[in-house]
Amino acid sequence: MKTIFDAKGKREGKVLPALDVPQQGLEKLIPHSLRRSRKPRIPALSEPELVRHYTRLSKLNYGVDDGLYPLGSCTMKYNPKVNEDLAQLPAFAGAHPLADEQLVQGSLALLHEASRFLCNIAGLSDITLQPAAGAHGELTGMFLFNRYFRERGESKRKRMLLPDSAHGTNPASATISGFSITQIPSGEDGMVDLVALRETLDETVAGIMLTVPNTLGIFEERILEITQMVHAAGGLCYFDGANLNAFLGRARPGDMGADAFHFNLHKTLSTPHGGGGPGSGPLAVSQCLVDFLPVPRITKDENGYHLDRNFPRSIGCMHSFYGNFGVILKAYAYILLLGDDGLHAVSDNAVLNANYLQERLKKTYRLPYDRLCKHEFVLSGEKLGRGITTFDIAKRLIDYGFYPPTVYFPLIVHEALMIEPTECEGKETLDRFIGVMEKIALEAKENPELLRAAPQHAPVQRLDQTRAARHPILTYPFDELPE
Ligand SMILES: *Cc1c(COP(=O)(O)O)cnc(C)c1O
Repeated sequence: MKTIFDAKGKREGKVLPALDVPQQGLEKLIPHSLRRSRKPRIPALSEPELVRHYTRLSKLNYGVDDGLYPLGSCTMKYNPKVNEDLAQLPAFAGAHPLADEQLVQGSLALLHEASRFLCNIAGLSDITLQPAAGAHGELTGMFLFNRYFRERGESKRKRMLLPDSAHGTNPASATISGFSITQIPSGEDGMVDLVALRETLDETVAGIMLTVPNTLGIFEERILEITQMVHAAGGLCYFDGANLNAFLGRARPGDMGADAFHFNLHKTLSTPHGGGGPGSGPLAVSQCLVDFLPVPRITKDENGYHLDRNFPRSIGCMHSFYGNFGVILKAYAYILLLGDDGLHAVSDNAVLNANYLQERLKKTYRLPYDRLCKHEFVLSGEKLGRGITTFDIAKRLIDYGFYPPTVYFPLIVHEALMIEPTECEGKETLDRFIGVMEKIALEAKENPELLRAAPQHAPVQRLDQTRAARHPILTYPFDELPE
């Protein structure tokens, strides 16, 4: 680097190589009309200023590498660093998406094998790796359902059934795809009310969308009855697989009657997520939907692997090129790293950890659905005392160095606190979390102001969330820069 500050206080932080393209040709390439007349007004910073800025920002962050992140429904788990190393290998990271098939046979082989692994986990016939997230997988699934009914001349099937415990993306995906929503109530036990389901089934029903286990962390014990009833009425069954951590390697959606099932690779199978990405939501389907899968599909013959577009009944393309390759690669590496036994152990330990927390915490907090849970459970923060809300509890947890659980979801639990510890936490961490939750419950009674004023030990205190959403400031305030 040449200079940090020169004599006039000018700052420079760039280390760019000299231009190595001929200058003459540039005239033709970029006509004068398209060129800047003035220098861009961007902040000038020295290298140390820039390094300090980003280092400071990184310390304001809280991630899974800092500590427990019990954000229910999100499966924020530890991501093995070796997966990141593999995703950054130049042959993968540098492969051009338009490269000739013959030049990327290794990448295609990886996608092909990852597809087989995922189909085996799901117990379904085929898969598309294109969707970029869980919600995108749902949308793809709804498009497939639509096409299925159109080809069968059953376009009148326009109603999608959704339990009231459904994740918000489910009704959104169904609505965008042209379905109307019929809500199915949950029974006292937190599971689908079969009587209500039977009553609503008719020839206008396209299918049902089920989250397994549901957002209360409860597995539908009558899942086979549900899927058989829907199939008998001519409908299809969509399974939201965001909660796969609860039964990975133990049970298969295909065996339970699923026609379509999306993975959230970024939740269950490695990849740091949050803050908007990256994600991957492959959609596995049963035989009746295979022909409609998005193109290109990866096929294999004696000449190798191909990006095959020759599927005339396909719904088309759901993602440019072939989805988020790096995320699929990390899931593939994670599956190889763990093997059959390891995948099995993921769900065993995730469920064990959740039940340990549930049993200990239900002594202090209300547990509306008191039964064995799967990988997560929902407490209620109500009646803790002196007008204290779940929001206050969540904020106080930040003061104790924990990321708060999901709050106010699912909607069917008043003052919900949705806790998912994942399989990655040891007993010491869980005990520390329990200790803090008990302490907060005590504070709520003895010194509620502590909770109302929380967080005290965070970079920012309580934010105006409405203003942040309505009037976000997303760009550097250029007007404040000198000419
Ligand atoms: C996270 C989640 C989704 C949406 O997945 P994205 O990858 O965030 O689009 C859908 N359903 C459930 C139950 C989820 O937890």
